[in-house]
Amino acid sequence: MDFLQGQLEERKRRLETAITLAPSNANAEALLREVDSALDRFATGTYGLCETCHETVEPDRLLADPLLCYCLDHLTNSERAALQRDLDLASELQRGLLPPADLTVDGWETSYHYAPLGPVSGDYCDLYPYGGSLFFMLGDVSGKGVAASMRMTQLHALFRSLIGMGLPLADIVVHINRFLCESALAGQYATLVCGRADPGGGVELFNAGHLPVIAVQQGAVRLLESNGFPLGMFCDSAYAPDTVRMGADDMLFLFTDGLSETVGADGEYGVERVARLVAQQVAACASEVISKCLEDLRRFAGSNPGMDDVTLLAMRRAG
Ligand SMILES: [Zn+2]
Repeated sequence: MDFLQGQLEERKRRLETAITLAPSNANAEALLREVDSALDRFATGTYGLCETCHETVEPDRLLADPLLCYCLDHLTNSERAALQRDLDLASELQRGLLPPADLTVDGWETSYHYAPLGPVSGDYCDLYPYGGSLFFMLGDVSGKGVAASMRMTQLHALFRSLIGMGLPLADIVVHINRFLCESALAGQYATLVCGRADPGGGVELFNAGHLPVIAVQQGAVRLLESNGFPLGMFCDSAYAPDTVRMGADDMLFLFTDGLSETVGADGEYGVERVARLVAQQVAACASEVISKCLEDLRRFAGSNPGMDDVTLLAMRRAG
C-alpha cells in the first residue's frame, strides 16, 4: 500500500508538471482527477476496496493499475470490454504460436489437436524442424488462465531459441529447468515431454514429470514413463533421455491430462484407455488417430463438460 501511495504521488507530480507545460491537455487533467481521487481514498482508508461490494480489489490488478475502483466481479462495462479485448488478443497470439497442422517432415507425419478450455491455455504443443531433425514438445503448465499461458509462451520461445543454437536436447532441458526455477512464481511448474526425431527413425526423448508417451512399435504398445521432475520444481534436477527406434508405421502419441482425466459416467478416461485406442489404429494416419481419439473422448464424456485444456499429438513414421 505504501508503494502504491508513493507511485500515485509521483504520478500526481508528473501530471502537474505536464499540465503546467501544456495547459490545454484534457487527458492529463482527467487523469489527474483520477489520481487525486485515489489519493483521497488513501486518506479515508477506502483505497483498494471495491466500490460495489467493498471487498478488496485483487492486489495483482492494483499493482498493474493503481487507479482501479472495482473488483473482478464488479467491473464496469467498459472495463469488462477492455479485459475481453485483452483476452481475445492473447488468445490470438497464443494460437499464432502453434505449429502448422498435419506437418510432414523427414519421414515423420504429424497431427495435433489443441483445445484450450478458456481463451488462453497453459498447454504447450510445438513441432520444430531444425538441423535435419524434428523437435517436438508437449507439456502442461500448472495452474490455468493467463499466468499459465504466459509461462507457456515463454517455454515456446526458450525451446525454439535454444534448439536454434544447436545445443543438445539434454542441455536444453537442464537450462530451461534452471531458468524456470529461478523465475517461477511459487508453485508454478511445467510437466513436459520433449524429443528429437531423426529421419532414420531414431528418437531421443525426455519426460519431465509428464504423463507417459505411448509408443506403438510393430503393433506392440510401450509406455515411456516420466523419469524426471517437472521443469521449474528443483534447480538441480537431472534428466535422462529415453531412446527408441521407430520403424515404418510406428507411432508416438503424446497427450495432456485434459484427455486422461476427463470424467464420464464410468469414472476417469485413464491412460490405459488411451493406450488401447492408439494401439488399435495400426493402419491409420496421424490425423485419423487424433480424430478417433476425440470421437472416443466425446463418447466417453457424454454430457459431462470438459474441465481442462486438451492437447494431443500423434507422430507416425512414414511407411
Ligand atoms: Zn466487488
